[in-house]
Amino acid sequence: MRIGIYPGSFDPVTLGHLDIIKRASSLVDVLYVAVIKNSLKKPLFSIDERIDMLERATKDIHNVRVESFDGLTVDYADEKKANVIFRGLRAVTDFEYELQIAQTNHQLNPRVDTVFLITNVEYAYLSSSIVREIASYQGDIASFVPECIIDDVYDKFKQGESEHGNKQN
Ligand code: ADP
Repeated sequence: MRIGIYPGSFDPVTLGHLDIIKRASSLVDVLYVAVIKNSLKKPLFSIDERIDMLERATKDIHNVRVESFDGLTVDYADEKKANVIFRGLRAVTDFEYELQIAQTNHQLNPRVDTVFLITNVEYAYLSSSIVREIASYQGDIASFVPECIIDDVYDKFKQGESEHGNKQN
């Protein structure tokens, strides 16, 4: 049984992530898409919101399970009996950081290998931070995120505005 994990922040999931999820899931029997809990970045969406969006976006891919984890990715991989970590590569700028992480992970746990999937050119420029930026100005995000989560992203910014408005009143 081949088991893979695809860890990330997914804040929020984009069409670039979904493309990697589809391709990675076709290479293994089970793919755990795992939201990292202890990221240093301050996220826009809570862990539960990110899991919920990922679940809806991947509901038609039968061998994908969505979870969250904290601690080391290699320990989570062991817990899941996974032997492969998938990561997406967009540009050379991703490479140096990803190489360092992959080598460290292999050193920590030689049972797990990292497989890089090269982004589809269509999504090479796409990141969660770009989506957040555009949505914060009510720009059109329809070609960047799965259709079923578009409203979640806009609602998050509306929520922020009304909280801000309430504070001012
Ligand atoms: P992290 O904070 O771990 O980088 P992200 O959610 O930003 O989490 O990304 C998770 C993984 O998906 C990373 O391997 C990242 O390089 C990859 N990724 C992000 N955006 C894209 C994209 N547009 N195309 C392909 N891979 C991507």
